[in-house]
Amino acid sequence: MPARTGAEYIKGLRERPRDIRIGGERITDVTTYPGFRNGMLSIAALYDMQNDPATLDEMTYVSPTTGDRVGMSFLMPQCVEDIERKGHAMSRWASYHGGMMGRTPDFLNVSFVAMAGAAGYYAQNRPEFGENIVRYYEMMREGDLCLTHTLVNPQRNRRPAQYITDTLAEDIALRVVKETDAGLIVRGSRVLATLGPISDELAVYPSRSHQTVGDASRYAVSFSIPCDAPGLKFICRESFDYGRSHFDHPLGSRFEEMDAVVFFDDVFVPWERVFLYGDADLCNQMTFRTGWIVHSFQQVMSRIVAKSAFLLGLATMMTQALGNDDQPHVQERLGELAMYLEVEKGLLRAAELNAAPDEWGVFSPASIPLTVGENMYARMFYPRIAEIIHLLGSSSLMALPAQSDFESELRPDLDRYLATDTMEAIERAKLFHLAWDASCSAFGSRQLHYERFFAGDAVRNAQILVNVYDRDPAIRMVREFLERDTSV
Ligand SMILES: Cc1cc2nc3c(=O)[nH]c(=O)nc-3n(C[C@H](O)[C@H](O)[C@H](O)COP(=O)(O)OP(=O)(O)OC[C@H]3O[C@@H](n4cnc5c(N)ncnc54)[C@H](O)[C@@H]3O)c2cc1C
Repeated sequence: MPARTGAEYIKGLRERPRDIRIGGERITDVTTYPGFRNGMLSIAALYDMQNDPATLDEMTYVSPTTGDRVGMSFLMPQCVEDIERKGHAMSRWASYHGGMMGRTPDFLNVSFVAMAGAAGYYAQNRPEFGENIVRYYEMMREGDLCLTHTLVNPQRNRRPAQYITDTLAEDIALRVVKETDAGLIVRGSRVLATLGPISDELAVYPSRSHQTVGDASRYAVSFSIPCDAPGLKFICRESFDYGRSHFDHPLGSRFEEMDAVVFFDDVFVPWERVFLYGDADLCNQMTFRTGWIVHSFQQVMSRIVAKSAFLLGLATMMTQALGNDDQPHVQERLGELAMYLEVEKGLLRAAELNAAPDEWGVFSPASIPLTVGENMYARMFYPRIAEIIHLLGSSSLMALPAQSDFESELRPDLDRYLATDTMEAIERAKLFHLAWDASCSAFGSRQLHYERFFAGDAVRNAQILVNVYDRDPAIRMVREFLERDTSV
């Protein structure tokens, strides 16, 4: 099947009623639920770009098996140009939502490209698992499926020695409770399935940061199942799409991607959907050896660059509206935003240009620039970007009459009191609603929380970086310096 349209994606969701819980309600048809609908329509708009004659060539390529045009993010890269083509397609999607949707389908598409390329890794566990991952990737590509994923067991006790043991976590961590001729039965819970309610499939695989320890064979499992699999429940946080207009909530009313805890209540996983099972070491090393995370970080960095550009544009317009764009301290803050954008752009470009075949022969972006870019954004750049939007916005982030106020008898007063020297009141309100939704509203606060945690916590991520980073040349420099003085 060629790359899907938005209508086909929505039809697919409607045809597969699932068990979604939100605010005490049970939702089966997610396509009509107001808290999900607009986010779903934004994903649909991305799918439509794959079929728009203006963007078709950029967003799709010819499938090697069917000859249909399929989504560009599924391309198995064979050269630097392929990595760049994927990067352009991912940037185009990210520009559509200003980087506000983290888990658009390309995120997992590129991850499964790498996993399928590393089929030999899975085959070490069982030969058929290698075949399963390739078949699954091809099914994703030809069906243009939208995936969510859950990598981490819920927090109960994070003391490493007790992280996964039968005594403490047996009743919550996801594990295999039964094997049958047809497959596995799994029970437990996982966090967090972003985009879960409006995805076709749920992928489960190990996180690089939360390693499985001890005799953990029942917890060492990776698979993928449809979101309507019996026994699967998605427990959602409240929706940040409050049903208000695009004027009032410009981002929440469009880009709510939802985060959900997942309960697996004796869920059946057919053997052909199992990718790893019973080998904790293979699970723990999967991220590093298959390289899926490097491909997903190319998507992350494409989104981060789009988001940083979007927020620089927003901040600039805010200062122009308030007439302080030539003030030294304001220019310093805008300069800072430009620096973050350029650092992230430079790291992304370095990673793409230095792409090389990985141990499985798949062209892969350079890992270190992407890992550094993601880490810096999570721990430094994004929290500061949000802070700068707050600092530049000050009272204008609260002086926010709603669309209905502009439609009321209050309009002449609003026009008079809330215009600035450079902007009419209604345009100013529209702009600052956007700034508020990007940085202050529940939607905006969740953006900060997402950037901080979606790829794991900053402490472990820095530890992971330092352990893979080649520090020998730096140490050599110091040794050589110390050896220069031979008098002692
Ligand atoms: C908005 C949002 C969306 C997300 N979407 C997804 C998704 O789609 N799919 C998915 O799989 N996951 C998702 N996640 C989950 C994310 O992967 C985890 O939040 C992240 O890995 C951190 O794990 P944790 O929440 O269990 O925190 P913990 O591991 O419990 O850490 C909590 C805090 O304690 C510190 N800490 C605790 N124990 C240790 C330790 N042993 N060593 C070092 N530091 C420690 C950490 O630094 C951290 O600050 C999402 C998270 C958020 C916030």
